Amino acid sequence: MKYISTRGKSPAIDFEDVLLAGLAPDGGLYVPENYPQFSREQMRKMRSLSYSELAAEIMAPFTEGYLSKSDLAEMAKEAYGNFSHSAVAPLKQIGDGLWVMELFYGPTLAFKDYALQIVGRMFDTVLKRSNKHITILGATSGDTGSAAIEACKGCPNLDVFILHPHNRVSEVQRRQMTTTRASNIYNIALEGTFDDCQAIVKALFADEVFREKQCLSAVNSINWARIMAQVVYYFHAALALGAPDREVSFAVPTGNFGNIFAGYVAKRMGLSVRKLVLGSNENDILPRFLKTGVMEKREVKPSISPSMDIQVSSNFERLLFDVFDRNAAEVSRLMEKFKYERIYSVKPEILNRIQNIISGTSCSDNETKDQIRKVYTATNEIVDPHSAIGFAAAEKFYEKEAPTVVLSTAHPSKFPIAVREAIGITPALPSKLSDLMTRRENFTVLPNTPDAIKYFIETAQRKA
Ligand SMILES: *Cc1c(COP(=O)(O)O)cnc(C)c1O
Repeated sequence: MKYISTRGKSPAIDFEDVLLAGLAPDGGLYVPENYPQFSREQMRKMRSLSYSELAAEIMAPFTEGYLSKSDLAEMAKEAYGNFSHSAVAPLKQIGDGLWVMELFYGPTLAFKDYALQIVGRMFDTVLKRSNKHITILGATSGDTGSAAIEACKGCPNLDVFILHPHNRVSEVQRRQMTTTRASNIYNIALEGTFDDCQAIVKALFADEVFREKQCLSAVNSINWARIMAQVVYYFHAALALGAPDREVSFAVPTGNFGNIFAGYVAKRMGLSVRKLVLGSNENDILPRFLKTGVMEKREVKPSISPSMDIQVSSNFERLLFDVFDRNAAEVSRLMEKFKYERIYSVKPEILNRIQNIISGTSCSDNETKDQIRKVYTATNEIVDPHSAIGFAAAEKFYEKEAPTVVLSTAHPSKFPIAVREAIGITPALPSKLSDLMTRRENFTVLPNTPDAIKYFIETAQRKA
């Protein structure tokens, strides 16, 4: 499998390079040259597989020549073996035609572990094989950072630098990142928003000299390997509910568009996905776009679902690439325009195509709390604010034709204040993390400029 850039100016690369590369040198995102297809017969056979076995089956066509199916099965078993639920991604029915898939049984209690626990192992394997050292640089709106740190701590062949927006992530989120005592982990609290963090990461990746010297690599959701690993649980849920002989819809709390994009990839690979519906908080750039065809960036508003406080959903570029029939020149033109003017629009025909794939809605903080309350009253389930927005989206686009699976993206104890405000109950952290609030923290506050970050990385490494 070869991977190509959505901007069309970088050469095609192999899996090993796409794993380590992150953003393409031309500023685009890598996508597979084509989507592998599974027949109905193949999918029916997958129904009997465990989560780890399924993961190997789904990912093998993407990693061919670099990681074999048995390599993948081995890694998956290790990665998911210590999740705290034996089903890894359990499905629960919670209403008529309504299901929830809980994706918070990994070490950091958010869905990002499902990709990063295995992607971390891929990094380790590939780097040891080639005896390379890399620097991972990532921006986090809260959950990616801790998931990446958990996945990479102690790996001898890489250093990890994670930028989070100072004072804009929850205390639990921050502590999950900053209390890891591993010498290859560096936490930076940036004086800015998540979008500022992301812009700096992009700027440093665009700095060719720095990128080459550091062997920069990414773990945020622009990394293709993460998307690939997330495709697995869409198959897992849909197969359990009758796919490929029945259509299944998904409702996904959305920020950077990585999670829901994996659902789209599953659909392209032949899975009977009926609808993909996204929920956002008041940072509603995607729902506005889905209504009007105008992508317009506004200021980021802090919300009670901070992992979705995003105005630039990077992975959307991958979908655009496909709806423009992979016309990289057109995608580049729009992305350049967006970068400089903070706005672009698409023609009705293109918007129509997108609307046929996804729908979206947004929730204010109050609506989010109402939803937490509603779910609790109706089902006795305590959901975190992100997941609650997924429930709101599922409700809005409910159809009796197909079951809807809400992706529950975080454990409620990650966001205790919002949950308490909604239902008067403070969800307890699982016992593994019960001493989190008293562990010693380690992070550095830095100004919002690429140079400050660059200098910090270079100096930290000289010291090490
Ligand atoms: C990252 C995250 C999201 C958003 O996922 P994207 O892939 O960025 O759209 C939603 N909920 C939680 C809890 C997250 O950590």
